[in-house]
Amino acid sequence: MYMGTIITVKAYGKNADKAADKVFKRISELEEILTVNDTGSEIDDLNDMAGIVEVKLSSDSLYVLNKAKEYAELSEGAFDVTIGPLVKAWNIGTDNPRVPLKDEIDELLKLVDFRDLKIDNANHTAYLARRGQMVDLGGIAKGYAGDEAIKVLKENGIESALVNLGGNVVVLGSKPDGNLWTVGIQNPREAAGKYLGTISVRDKAVVSSGDYERYFMKDGVRYHHILDPRTGYPADSGLISTTIIADSAIDADALSTSVFVLGLENGMKLVESLDGVEAVFVTEDKKVYVTEGLKDIFIFYQEDSKDFTYVEER
Ligand code: ADP
Ligand code: MG
Repeated sequence: MYMGTIITVKAYGKNADKAADKVFKRISELEEILTVNDTGSEIDDLNDMAGIVEVKLSSDSLYVLNKAKEYAELSEGAFDVTIGPLVKAWNIGTDNPRVPLKDEIDELLKLVDFRDLKIDNANHTAYLARRGQMVDLGGIAKGYAGDEAIKVLKENGIESALVNLGGNVVVLGSKPDGNLWTVGIQNPREAAGKYLGTISVRDKAVVSSGDYERYFMKDGVRYHHILDPRTGYPADSGLISTTIIADSAIDADALSTSVFVLGLENGMKLVESLDGVEAVFVTEDKKVYVTEGLKDIFIFYQEDSKDFTYVEER
């Protein structure tokens, strides 16, 4: 277990085992820097010093925070890593999740604003403007780890690999036999490993966000872990899963969370405006939509996904 998830590395070629070991080392190093659980990570420091003083950060943290701000702006705040206080209040994905009172949510919402995350790249520092503000990198850190994993593999001469960080898949090159890698798109209402369909790619990241990943049920309501920074409640955009296919996993990760919050229409608009980015959207009324560039690549498993309809024309 790293980054709260199961990580697999399939690397091929000479030195593959050694390279894979180095990947795990790099990922645990990143985990120590980027997580928030009072273990004294750099991000914990940033949060502890909110409203007090700026903190010195490694280039890893700085890179991820800069990306986080970039996607906050691009998504007009749908993606916002200052969501930390609310993530903590809901506690989803832990043994004791809860539904906070509306008043508590409204109070904490005042602390959520990515503009209060000040980054000083020249001095390698960052600062949260107000006491109580907290950064949570859960929506982007695994993506960065995926990119770094591929970087380590390349540096060790690997030309063919697949890295899976809890459903965030990054592939290097093609399969050892020269064919494209086939990546399954999880069926959001079936057990892990049951797919709605597949896409075949090389040198790409395929990252999903969904209401099935981490959630709890209370009084028949599903409370999942992707929060809407405008309401403080789990995003209720009409989507149950989003998948982004992009050249880098950090972009795909930030975007999959962003478009999950934005919903089908605005999410589709955002993805279609970006070069080299494709997406699969699954709505709560069980329809599957893909971007233009994916129409020839996405293969829908009609037989296995009877509840779902693939909408090819929009
Ligand atoms: P997963 O971790 O299942 O791959 P995501 O990449 O979509 O899923 O990230 C969800 C995580 O991101 C949450 O668990 C939380 O830590 C954080 N988060 C929740 N809502 C937001 C948001 N609106 N913007 C940025 N991060 C968020
Ligand atoms: Mg994400």
